[in-house]
Amino acid sequence: MSANPETGRVAIVGAGPAGLAAAYDLTKAGRSVVVYEAAPEVGGLAAGFKAPGWEWSLEKFYHHWFASDAAILGLIDELGWRDQVLFPRPYTVIYHAGRFHPFDDIFSNMPLFLLRHFSLMDVARFGLAGAYLRFSPYWQPLEAVTAAAWTRRWFGERVYNLFWRPMLVGKFGEANLEVVNMAWLWARLHSRTTRLGTFRGGFQAFLDKLADTVRGQGAEIRLGTPVTQIKALPDGRLAVATDRGGESFSAVISTSSPALMARLAPDLPDSYAAQLRALKSMGAVVMVLALKQRLTSYYWHNLPKEAGFPFLALVEHTNYLDSRYYGGDHIVYCGDYLEPDHEYFRLSDAELLERYLPGIQRFNPAFDRSWIKQTWVWKAAYAQPVPPLNHSRNIPALRTPVPGLYFASMSQVYPWDRGTNFAVEIGRKVAGMVLDGAAGR
Ligand SMILES: Cc1cc2nc3c(=O)[nH]c(=O)nc-3n(C[C@H](O)[C@H](O)[C@H](O)COP(=O)(O)OP(=O)(O)OC[C@H]3O[C@@H](n4cnc5c(N)ncnc54)[C@H](O)[C@@H]3O)c2cc1C
Repeated sequence: MSANPETGRVAIVGAGPAGLAAAYDLTKAGRSVVVYEAAPEVGGLAAGFKAPGWEWSLEKFYHHWFASDAAILGLIDELGWRDQVLFPRPYTVIYHAGRFHPFDDIFSNMPLFLLRHFSLMDVARFGLAGAYLRFSPYWQPLEAVTAAAWTRRWFGERVYNLFWRPMLVGKFGEANLEVVNMAWLWARLHSRTTRLGTFRGGFQAFLDKLADTVRGQGAEIRLGTPVTQIKALPDGRLAVATDRGGESFSAVISTSSPALMARLAPDLPDSYAAQLRALKSMGAVVMVLALKQRLTSYYWHNLPKEAGFPFLALVEHTNYLDSRYYGGDHIVYCGDYLEPDHEYFRLSDAELLERYLPGIQRFNPAFDRSWIKQTWVWKAAYAQPVPPLNHSRNIPALRTPVPGLYFASMSQVYPWDRGTNFAVEIGRKVAGMVLDGAAGR
């Protein structure tokens, strides 16, 4: 560590899970840290909000942890907060042929589901291909083939058309069906569990507690302060500019979107900036409804695009967590992953509700718009990275070519799918690089 505290100062752009995890390790190691956050609260995409009368905050975008999320649950253990983690029993269903079918775990429910609708051969192929994906540790060869081609070949045409194709189209759109590689799907099946967890009080409660811990260790978190530029100075330090002025640091970690990073740091060489700009991603649009009555009996409803719903998933959150945490409101999310230029990004909240109402009605014929107490709409342009073939060769390095400047985003946690667990992992990894590499500058 530097003898001069000024030369050891680190700026972090973004107080999402990655930025906070990095700030935690850096301040724990004695570094002086300033976290700049554009939003008025910490948490990034995992942030929540609270309506009057709610005891818990609710994630703007539905969130849960998997029992296998070792990095984030490990951090929670380290902080002594494990007693705040809950794993209630969720019920997931899939829509097929006009009905919802139990679908908690594709490897336990799927054979039963298939047996009802398909041949023994389909079930056998499903078992073999599924077991391979669940147990094989070798994802590298899978990134050379698209998820569509692999699943069609190994699960067979019928299961592909019933399940994998709608899932891939739903998540990435028709245009990316021939783009997304199979390592992405391997990672989801390999690492995810049926048990879904959350934090007492919501993800925001966890992120606020983490932010308080980081502040307690000496970090300054500047909310509502977007960084406008990161510039290399002749003395080797980095100047961070905001509308309120500028300051210099020995190292900067940015956790912004790749596109924004390319604009923020004009000193990045063209080759690195081009890598950032080449990363593809989907946006997300989510409407949250607070209802006076329960809409469905399940937590998560998977909806194939072909079924004509105006959204990809309907998630009745209060079939997972008790509605008493939300003042008795029944909470429903209607969500979709969309290209950032999709018209849903431009519709007003009222227009979006009109699009969604006929779809919501299909879940319960008794539903009436008078059930709706309030709605909120949350939109994110950078929500889901799209990993193309051989993506591992094209991922921008965490240590950028500009000395002292680091970049850590959802697009770099590959082959894993983005998630708060991997945000914590990459945040801690990049903090370790700063501690190892930038000391003394
Ligand atoms: C619809 C949806 C569902 C999801 N479901 C889950 C789930 O179930 N479980 C799960 O674990 N994860 C889930 N995720 C993913 C999870 O939210 C992300 O992986 C995680 O938040 C990424 O953390 P991060 O810190 O890398 O980035 P972010 O959370 O995006 O944080 C980046 C932060 O940087 C700030 N920032 C950006 N630019 C600037 C700037 N110029 N100056 C200052 N601040 C800036 C942003 O305001 C933001 O707060 C979901 C995401 C979405 C969109």
